[in-house]
Amino acid sequence: MSTCPRCNQPMESGFSVELGRNDVYQSVWHPGPPGPRQDKILGINLASEKSVEVDPARTRPITTYRCSGCGFLESYAL
Ligand SMILES: [Zn+2]
Repeated sequence: MSTCPRCNQPMESGFSVELGRNDVYQSVWHPGPPGPRQDKILGINLASEKSVEVDPARTRPITTYRCSGCGFLESYAL
C-alpha cells in the first residue's frame, strides 16, 4: 500500500466514473487533445455539442488512489 506524498497517510485504490444517461462507466485516458465527435448520418451531426471523438483501442482505464487523511488523489492509466 502506498502513502500520501503530502501527509504520509495510507492511499486507497479506487476509480473515477463517468455518468451516462442510463449507465455508469470507469473513466479512461485517451491520447492527444480532444476533438469534436463526428457522428454523422446523411450529413447531419448526431453527436451533442460537447461530445468528443474517441478511439476505444487507444484508451486506458484510470486507477485512482485516494489519501485517507487529506483526500489527495493520484491517478494512473496503465
Ligand atoms: Zn494525504
